Amino acid sequence: MSMILFGNDVLFQQRFLKAAGFYTGDLDGDWGPLTDGAMTSFEKQSREITAALGTFDSLSERSILTLNPKAQEAARAFLKKVRAADIGDIRIVSGTRTYAEQNALYRKGRFGNPPPVVTKAKGGQSNHNFGIAWDIGIFQNGQYLDKPDLYERAARAGLVDSIEWGGDWKSFKDLPHFQLATGNPIKLVCAKFENGQAYV
Ligand SMILES: [Zn+2]
Repeated sequence: MSMILFGNDVLFQQRFLKAAGFYTGDLDGDWGPLTDGAMTSFEKQSREITAALGTFDSLSERSILTLNPKAQEAARAFLKKVRAADIGDIRIVSGTRTYAEQNALYRKGRFGNPPPVVTKAKGGQSNHNFGIAWDIGIFQNGQYLDKPDLYERAARAGLVDSIEWGGDWKSFKDLPHFQLATGNPIKLVCAKFENGQAYV
């Protein structure tokens, strides 16, 4: 049996696999042979991408392997470039989040929970929920560095036309955040994801 990638959120996993072209069954939230086979195919393609583009530290690997295959390719090429720029120990620390995981993040800093606010997006409002966004962390001796200039240097080193950077956003700049460009508003990307249609 294939691994369960997103906790027990089978519907989320079916949407993810269907939008990426691996799953052909109903979006019913039931783990059956079609879901299992789709997951096996997804894992096989992930291994092929890894073999072609190289592997990184275990944290980056765990995060990258949650992404849509097109984002896996982009994230691996991106990470290779930013590491070559000699900015610091750069890792991909976050990839795909389920809606429930996104909602848990949204509650941070709100509703009486201690600050800071870390996101403006609820479940279904972030590209992390559709498998096409990743966050980087820059470390030194195992310590996370919160220095904006380092993230700007990483963006300059790694950005290509197909990738958008959270540091370019007008409101709520998100310096560690990168995502595949879709050319579509996020509401449309969300609708496509929920219907299992391709958006990248
Ligand atoms: Zn992010």
